[in-house]
Amino acid sequence: MQNVNRRVVLASRPKGYPQASDFRLEEEPIRDPDPGSALVRTHYLSLDPYMRMRLSDAPSYVPPIAIGEVIVGGIVGEVVRSNTDAFTVGDIVEGRLGWQEYGMARADTARKVPFPDIQISTALGILGMPGMTAFFGLLEIGKPIAGDTVVVSAASGAVGAIVGQIAKLNGCRVVGIAGSDKKVAYVIDELGFDAGINHRSTEDMGAALDAACPNGIDVYFDNVGGPITDAVMARLGFRARVVICGQISQYNLETPPQTPSVLRPLLIKQARMEGFIVGSFQAKFEEGRTRIAQWIRDGKLKYREDITDGIENAPEQFSELLRGHNFGKKLIRMFPDA
Ligand code: NDP
Repeated sequence: MQNVNRRVVLASRPKGYPQASDFRLEEEPIRDPDPGSALVRTHYLSLDPYMRMRLSDAPSYVPPIAIGEVIVGGIVGEVVRSNTDAFTVGDIVEGRLGWQEYGMARADTARKVPFPDIQISTALGILGMPGMTAFFGLLEIGKPIAGDTVVVSAASGAVGAIVGQIAKLNGCRVVGIAGSDKKVAYVIDELGFDAGINHRSTEDMGAALDAACPNGIDVYFDNVGGPITDAVMARLGFRARVVICGQISQYNLETPPQTPSVLRPLLIKQARMEGFIVGSFQAKFEEGRTRIAQWIRDGKLKYREDITDGIENAPEQFSELLRGHNFGKKLIRMFPDA
């Protein structure tokens, strides 16, 4: 085992898209775990769009990371030294231990990965926070009914790809909006969506939605906000449900855009729109994970990962994720043997 921990800290608050200079790679000696802690060697680090909000000090549902602090992030890794009864050397654990090769886990910050028969990286994706977001956001807020038309944006991504597949398992017609022809082909051909729209090449999003959703839109799972959402809102069906999950098109803007009011479509269609944060469903995560794990084993849910090697590449890959250059759940593999 090496004796140096490499970690990425926040050097400055990004303006617009994060730049390499907003981050700093540091080294420190690896410490022995304090009583109650275990030292974890990170195998995979999760890059997630919500982290952009934590780099800023604007009000949000998550507190900002301080300058000089390790960037917050979910990891899955192996316990290599333990000073707690909660973990034994060799345990595979998942927790928010940050952008570093070695982190400290406590019983209240990490948990053992529960499904040894499924690839451990999924604890950060389909069986982790993005999977829970899709499962509870769609089923508990979108409340899809068989026959509904469900539209999902960022459809090939970590959350969107699962939303669309679970909607299909519930008998819905699913339309995915994604940022390239390859992503659109993937959601239709491999995930079984009924139709797809490339928002980067489509000149008239309204017309594309009209063609893909001839009976209107019953559920919209919004991962992006901005012009895509504006076009969807104008096409809601009677008593539609809009799940506000993410607004990635807005995260790097310095001035909030003026957008059309959504109140009129909500009124005339007697529709409902609700924001949610996945943590509100924490008490039910076990139920969600068990259902998703079974769907994976049964071949009913597929997942795709986009993996880059080396912690030194995390800042650049994070910026790429925010620009839509990922294809699937974005992960950093920390060591070649992971
Ligand atoms: P993804 O894997 O979907 O990656 C982000 C994707 O967003 C990109 O690949 C890109 O896809 C799309 N995107 C980026 N910029 C734009 C833009 N300007 N317009 C439209 N699409 C854009 O990420 P996740 O699945 O992890 O997250 C999806 C959303 O869910 C995010 O907004 C995130 O913040 C939110 N989220 C919310 C949670 C909650 O508790 N509410 C929890 C987890 C995630 P494409 O190329 O297809 O455009």
